[in-house]
Amino acid sequence: MILPCPTRLRNDFSDMLRLRNYDTKYIKGIGPERAKLLASELGIHSAYDLVRHFPTGYIDRSKTYSLRSLHAALGEDFANVQLRGRFVSFNVLGEGAKMRLIGLFSDGTGSVECVWFRGVRETRKRLRAGEEYVLFGRPSRFNGQLQLTHPEVETPQKAESNGGIRAVYPLTENLRRRNITGRVLHEAIVGFLNKLNRHLEDVLPPSTVQSLGLMDLDTALRTIHLPTNPQALQKARERLKFEELFFIQADMLMRSRKRKLDTAGYVMPRIGTRFNDFYSQCLPFSLTGAQKRVIKEIHADICSGRQMNRLVQGDVGSGKTLVALMAMLLALDNGYQACLMAPTEILATQHFETIRGLVAKIGIGVALLTGSTRAKERRVIDEGLRDGSIHILIGTHAVIEERVEFKKLGMAVIDEQHRFGVAQRARLWKKSECPPHILVMTATPIPRTLAMTVYGDLDVSVIDELPPGRKPVQTVLRYEKNRAQVQAAIRRQLDAGHQVYIVYPLVEENEKLDLKSVTEGFESACELYKPHMTALVHGRMKPAEKDAQMALFSSGKAGVLVATTVIEVGVNVPNATTMVIENAERFGLSQLHQLRGRVGRGAENSYCVLMSKYELSADTRKRLEIMTSTTDGFVIAEADMQLRGPGDIEGTAQSGLPFDLKIANLAQDGQIIQMARRAAETLLDSDPGLALPENRNFMSALKDMLSRAQDWSRIS
Ligand code: ADP
Ligand code: MG
Repeated sequence: MILPCPTRLRNDFSDMLRLRNYDTKYIKGIGPERAKLLASELGIHSAYDLVRHFPTGYIDRSKTYSLRSLHAALGEDFANVQLRGRFVSFNVLGEGAKMRLIGLFSDGTGSVECVWFRGVRETRKRLRAGEEYVLFGRPSRFNGQLQLTHPEVETPQKAESNGGIRAVYPLTENLRRRNITGRVLHEAIVGFLNKLNRHLEDVLPPSTVQSLGLMDLDTALRTIHLPTNPQALQKARERLKFEELFFIQADMLMRSRKRKLDTAGYVMPRIGTRFNDFYSQCLPFSLTGAQKRVIKEIHADICSGRQMNRLVQGDVGSGKTLVALMAMLLALDNGYQACLMAPTEILATQHFETIRGLVAKIGIGVALLTGSTRAKERRVIDEGLRDGSIHILIGTHAVIEERVEFKKLGMAVIDEQHRFGVAQRARLWKKSECPPHILVMTATPIPRTLAMTVYGDLDVSVIDELPPGRKPVQTVLRYEKNRAQVQAAIRRQLDAGHQVYIVYPLVEENEKLDLKSVTEGFESACELYKPHMTALVHGRMKPAEKDAQMALFSSGKAGVLVATTVIEVGVNVPNATTMVIENAERFGLSQLHQLRGRVGRGAENSYCVLMSKYELSADTRKRLEIMTSTTDGFVIAEADMQLRGPGDIEGTAQSGLPFDLKIANLAQDGQIIQMARRAAETLLDSDPGLALPENRNFMSALKDMLSRAQDWSRIS
């Protein structure tokens, strides 16, 4: 065994597992004290963690500055610079805690004061006046004088041997205080890698590395810590990002393949009278190509004998409700019941009404169950569900309550899934002997590559086509000073017989204030737009009150609806042509997109006005300008992710990844995610159980990583 390894390990352990078991305290330059600190500060426990403590950036040290040019750049904020010259003099000032070392450094074109507050004696001993050194640090001005605090000092030979590009490592303040600098880490890592007198075995399957022309692990690790040139560094980073994403994709795929093998599902091959009658008699328009395609995909799933777990992504207004309904009709045609769950009562009620209207001619039992369903009615529903006379149950969370019993639940549709937790979905399993087919609908378009990762074990369908004749919503950004014009425009819309939404933010932390602004907005709208009626809906209202207000608006009695984001998802009033969003800067892009989707549902021109304060930061303005420049939900989701990072994108936080990403970035590495996905598919096609000897290293690494993964909750 060649790898230095103080703990006795089995011979069949892969290099990766050896590194995992190699305590950092045995590494030169670390030792027991520092090992403890690295563990508590950075979570570095083993040599494996250490060599995977990747630099966050690099500094180009191929350039040396002259002090004259630094003096000339007076007042600028410098990045780190490299200097070359000699110390003219040293002075130790002060005593005890106040002691400091001042070295005057000159390169012949000017001079700079170097200051050390720590390690004064050691530094003084190490450095000699008159000898040539290379200095590296960030110059600042102190009393008009150029100064370098704690610069790195090296001999010219050492500086040259380290090459032009230097790694910068993530550190904590506490580590810096204890003199564990990037340099220390760098030297420990590179020293450790150099001491291994052979190449580290790769963890990736050899076929994957070869077919994609990836850099091998050993070279990649050495290169990322000590790049020889930018091209090699690029390849090393790609390889290491790929590796992380490949582990995730392989894991996801194995899970989903296994689940498909393990979980039998109801077989629903029949396309019967309900589906056909609906199609020929009730459909008010023809389906879009995308809707047809998705219905076919669903049909194939439910014929397969396996449980369907399909996510349908479709932009707002793409007609997901209809797809859901037709999927449920297929279940009915095969003798099963279906349910549809929505995140809010308003939405559930609206689905209920839409669907009841659509299927009126074909006589099927549809019921609505929400938290405010009365006990008496509830008993009738319970009865109908048990005897099978209710075919489709529509509702809120109430649907998955323990006591709700179906005769034969075969399909569950979940609308706007990010409001439903994993646990809630799991409850559906208890409602029939076999898990029902699951169809998840979401209009929060998360970027495709992200979906591939966070919904990696769901099958994804995309409705990427809007019904014909839709005109894009014209979106503008307006400020306080434009308010009178905005009000006049609202008035014109109302007078022309259209309806208008006015939306206020409602954020938990300052709910009181928000409530005040929405009620004030309501009062002023009542006044301003007389004789048109104004309705009000917000989250603190009783359901019955909300319904009544909502009904005023959807029936067209009220011209204006002042609301908080309770109307965000799914509300459908085609006659509403205008949406005004107050304090638009407080909303996320995806949320704005959702809101905007409430207008532009009819044939008329429609408008969205984003109202905002005058002073917007550059970032906020950029964000809002994305809304004015596109109506494509995927483009918006992509932009939102770039601006905020993937963690904040709705729907992703709860799904979690099995491992932390150290180097890959879900927002930026879309291409590598796709590459990893395809490669994982190829690998599992050729070796489904990862049992071939050449894939054993990968399999054991994957198992090892999963065993360390915490709180990995499955998507049902
Ligand atoms: P979402 O995908 O946002 O849930 P909906 O299902 O609410 O969208 O549909 C939005 C509107 O488009 C509804 O009024 C619906 O009746 C209409 N619609 C759906 N499919 C079509 C179609 N193929 N042609 C025309 N209108 C359609
Ligand atoms: Mg919808």
